[in-house]
Amino acid sequence: KHQAALAARSKDDLRSPICCIMGHVDTGKTKLLDKIRQTNVQEGEAGGITQQIGATYFPEDTLRQKIAPIDPEGKQDFNIPGLLVIDTPGHESFTNLRTRGSSLCNIAILVVDIMHGLEQQTLESIRLLRDKKTPFIVALNKIDRLYGWQSTPDGAFRKSLANQNRATQNEFQDRVDKTIVAFAEQGLNAVLYYDNKNFAKNVSLVPTSAHTGEGIPDMLQLLINLTQERMSEKLMYLSELECTVLEVKVIEGLGTTIDVILSNGVMYEGDKIVLCGLNGPIVTQVRALLTPQPLKEMRVKGSYVHHKMVKAALGVKISAPDLEKAISGSRLMVVGPDDDEEEMMEEVMSDLTGLLHSIDKS
Ligand code: GDP
Repeated sequence: KHQAALAARSKDDLRSPICCIMGHVDTGKTKLLDKIRQTNVQEGEAGGITQQIGATYFPEDTLRQKIAPIDPEGKQDFNIPGLLVIDTPGHESFTNLRTRGSSLCNIAILVVDIMHGLEQQTLESIRLLRDKKTPFIVALNKIDRLYGWQSTPDGAFRKSLANQNRATQNEFQDRVDKTIVAFAEQGLNAVLYYDNKNFAKNVSLVPTSAHTGEGIPDMLQLLINLTQERMSEKLMYLSELECTVLEVKVIEGLGTTIDVILSNGVMYEGDKIVLCGLNGPIVTQVRALLTPQPLKEMRVKGSYVHHKMVKAALGVKISAPDLEKAISGSRLMVVGPDDDEEEMMEEVMSDLTGLLHSIDKS
């Protein structure tokens, strides 16, 4: 059976990895995301980027466009159909997700302010990433604040660095050296990404500016390479459904809906689903699988795109009856023809204690 499954694998079965952004407050996590998401605003082009529920999806074509400053001939290999970036690093449900020990993120960007170095929440993020064994890169952000920095908007980092005067280059090197020492104190071997010869052993530092966009092409290319190199074969392909409730929301015209992150597998309209509810397991049927309109139409309020089918990884809004008592952080399962529904009900409810505990704390 396993052999047959392997043989059946095609490009259509590739799964998009999930990337999370972590780090201390005010290091520029939100700003970096905004900058990556930014499209050709003047032309009103969304470039295939779609804002989703709690996440943003970047398809291969868009990623290619974004790394063009360092890959003008389009030589980058792509074994991933795209990248799902989680939008809400500080989202309350993430406490729930963490308590369940889920590995929602396949890869992470740890943002560090180059002017401040490693701060308290940076250290907490490092601990979390290590516990989950999540590969990560470090965005050494706010390089435009280095004294005398001359910016080349959206440029490749090394070109920008070469354009700086000697004093600025020295300050950069000095701050990088200090950061490397600080990482060493945490037992991590950090190196500038272009000096990194071993992704598995060393953490890559990629200098960025969320204001000027410098280094962002470098950061995206690094993410792509790191996922492709470090993500297990198992996670490269769609397999068993894995889905987590991010938020329970009442939407005009739809009633109570749940926003979920589908981190693995495929889901269909009409699927019978099981999830954890405050008063017991909820068993219901998917009425609609929804995502917001593409970016350029985001202003069209209350209108969603309907999908017959969705593939991981993706952020989706599910409309279904009986979701009022659903709990954020809950795992969601789809009942297949051979599945034991009772068993699934028990399984989703086994999370309840942990979920309620973390709701109490927050
Ligand atoms: P978050 O708390 O990590 O999400 O940080 P924000 O994205 O909200 O940024 C915090 C502050 O730092 C804001 O005032 C941003 O404008 C500023 N900021 C973020 N990135 C950069 C950067 O690359 N350069 C400069 N100069 N300021 C930045």
